[in-house]
Amino acid sequence: MNHTPLRIEDILHEYENTRLKNKGLAYARRDEVYERLPRVKELSEGGALRYLAAARARVGGQDISGENKAAVQKENRQNSAEVRSLLKEAGYPEDYLDPIYDCPLCKDTGYIDDKRCSCFTKKLIDRLYLQSNLTNILDRENFETFDTTYYSKEPAEGLPKSPYENITGVLHDAKAFVRDFKPGGGNGNILIYGETGLGKTFLSNCIAKEILDKGHTVLYLSSNELFERLLGPFLMGKDNSLSELYGLLFDCELLIIDDLGTEFTNDFVRTQFFELINRRILLGRSTLISTNLGLKQLSENYTERVMSRIIADYTVFYLYGDNIRYQKRRNQYA
Ligand SMILES: [Zn+2]
Repeated sequence: MNHTPLRIEDILHEYENTRLKNKGLAYARRDEVYERLPRVKELSEGGALRYLAAARARVGGQDISGENKAAVQKENRQNSAEVRSLLKEAGYPEDYLDPIYDCPLCKDTGYIDDKRCSCFTKKLIDRLYLQSNLTNILDRENFETFDTTYYSKEPAEGLPKSPYENITGVLHDAKAFVRDFKPGGGNGNILIYGETGLGKTFLSNCIAKEILDKGHTVLYLSSNELFERLLGPFLMGKDNSLSELYGLLFDCELLIIDDLGTEFTNDFVRTQFFELINRRILLGRSTLISTNLGLKQLSENYTERVMSRIIADYTVFYLYGDNIRYQKRRNQYA
């Protein structure tokens, strides 16, 4: 993943273009309606002229009296009510001449009272996906294409369920997690563990796709990206351009950390990893971790503190069976 093109200026520029586009659209609608319904033009422009006159009077120091002002306001209200009913009669939506916004919440500025609008965060993440190529992967890897036939129906040694029964149960729970995922947080966390080639990344892609499709903010990072390219360089103060991404670590509704355990890291960053996991739990934001490591190894690598948080607050999916990659390869030559 290439982080350098993630620039806030680009996103603000995108908002500017959206506002321009919508203004153009609104002018086109106005011209079209004025042409068809001259009475609407009369009403709209009459109101605008009277506003202008009142404003000029104010600038000239002769503020119009309260009585006049009330009369102008009343007339304008009546006019706009008439405009609405004329539009409706002519088969237009009543608000056809209202300002047009892609996001009515922030009026396409990206901000609501100095705070970022949710559409801003979505734009950030969309840019991340464009860079990460995840969009292509999600087209291929989703619940529809998850193939359970690779999981054996034979009993697994020392385990209560066959790999097939197990994966069916996991898929059922994963779909429930996705279905019940709601805005505002408190949706729980998932740990997927098991050996290589058992569909852990595939499963997290399925979950990522569904949560994204529901319009939530999902940040997907391999543990390499998280530790070696983000946490480390940012916290050591080596790369300030990562601050947006760093903010998203805490803000996004679902954070996916793929393949935990493959990173090369140090104690300082590992401590930050605990802070991240812990803070997201406190904020009620969901995290999904996939790893090849067993539970014992996890607690050895990331301390007991991390492990006890995971045991208390995560739903654990254990995947087992025969390596799917080997099976596919075997089938190729069979
Ligand atoms: Zn917005």
